[in-house]
Amino acid sequence: MGIYPPEDIDREAAAKQRGGCGRGEAPRALVRAVVPESPADDAGFEPGCHVTTVDGHPVHDVIDWRWLSADDVIELGYVDLDGDEGVVELEREPGEDWGFEFEGVVFDGVRQCRNACTFCFMRQLPDDMRSSLTLRDDDFRLSFLAGTFVTFTNLGPEDERRIVEQRISPLRLSLHAADPEVRRRMIGKHAQHGIDVLERLLAAGIEFHAQIVLVPDQNDGDVLEDTLSWAYARPGILDVCIVPLGFTKHQSAFDRSFNDPVSSSAVMDLVVPFQRRALAERGSMWAFPADEFYHNAYGPELLENLPPSEHYGDFGMFEDGVGIIRSFVDDWREAERAGLVERCAEVLRAADRRAYYVAGCATRHFLGPLVEAGPLAGLLVPLFVENDFFGGNVDVTGLLCGCDMADAVKSLAPSVAADGGDLFLVPRIVFNDNAVTLDDMSLEDMEKRAGARMSVVSCNASDYLPEIIDLVGRSGPAFDQTNQ
Ligand code: SF4
Repeated sequence: MGIYPPEDIDREAAAKQRGGCGRGEAPRALVRAVVPESPADDAGFEPGCHVTTVDGHPVHDVIDWRWLSADDVIELGYVDLDGDEGVVELEREPGEDWGFEFEGVVFDGVRQCRNACTFCFMRQLPDDMRSSLTLRDDDFRLSFLAGTFVTFTNLGPEDERRIVEQRISPLRLSLHAADPEVRRRMIGKHAQHGIDVLERLLAAGIEFHAQIVLVPDQNDGDVLEDTLSWAYARPGILDVCIVPLGFTKHQSAFDRSFNDPVSSSAVMDLVVPFQRRALAERGSMWAFPADEFYHNAYGPELLENLPPSEHYGDFGMFEDGVGIIRSFVDDWREAERAGLVERCAEVLRAADRRAYYVAGCATRHFLGPLVEAGPLAGLLVPLFVENDFFGGNVDVTGLLCGCDMADAVKSLAPSVAADGGDLFLVPRIVFNDNAVTLDDMSLEDMEKRAGARMSVVSCNASDYLPEIIDLVGRSGPAFDQTNQ
């Protein structure tokens, strides 16, 4: 798994499904909603019913459902609201939707990981994190549906058969190392089973996006070179991203990653020959160091050295931290060309207000220079927040916690925060679907702790600059200190 927030959202959704039936029990798909006048509605299905089988086959997940219900006439096994079981024939017009909305995407419980990765971020979290954040899933269905990386160490023959038969491809592979002994040391005793499964799936035509979590002195240097060579020799591995070890202060095994220019540059130098070869032979860069390597290698010269958009192709590794900076910079330039940057500066200047934008320290070398070089300098102020909650080298915006953001805003008070005149902007990405941060704080909790009103905005300039203009226009009231 990676340490990027989009996975967290998926993991939280997945965590809710941990209570599903265990392996060995018949799966049941809970119907959450029924589309009016659909075949499901016509057959009398209601929210709260369960679908159990299609044409006699159990339905394990939405992939199974789509596969098994592809015909226009199906026999559906169900359990109704009274708990009575039955089978009904459903028919639809070609192309018509059946009309079921199911709760979740897997119906037989999320497959848990049976590895013991030395670098596992889940094992580095504080003891009191909510359980959905410590879920160590390793489920090929979530890999296909939600883009999580999996090791295949927990796959059985039936899973392999399904993947091949239903063409569940591409999948996302946690590779880390090709050398069997290195891989065993990194992820545990089941490592080779995962590679054996991978080889069989590759031979059957299944494709993969691979990830390497790079750990100093474990799989960097010659090991990384060998791993990339091994992966490149398997064309079914469509591309590889390399992400640096993320470590927190809640562990004692790691105290460094690739956070300095020398070690980051060494990784990129090692990858370049693979990129050149892939570009010539396959028309893409194929191997992608995550953005952190560029950020750490180039520091204040990041913007001049950032690869162009073409480097990232279709940005297929975006959710794993590859190309996010390039995408942000391109969006900022687009906002400049559209006059949004100039307009936002005019509005803030005319209102004699500043907008403080909360951001992780990983944005320091591009967000700061972009703002400072234009008319928003001194008006839009990036508030780079240290992640004290996790500590270590955790510095991306999406992993910022409510306590640290609130304390950073509070540190500006009383000269700024308490007067209600300036804006404190929190990017939406720090909240989950339930509108709480990783440390379970709502916006209201953060406001009380900071003693200042805060506003949630988007993550890209083309979205949040108009939002700032709108917020200034609305001129919200000063924060009510009596709320504290
Ligand atoms: S132990 Fe390894 S495979 Fe399992 S959740 Fe942690 S990093 Fe992922």
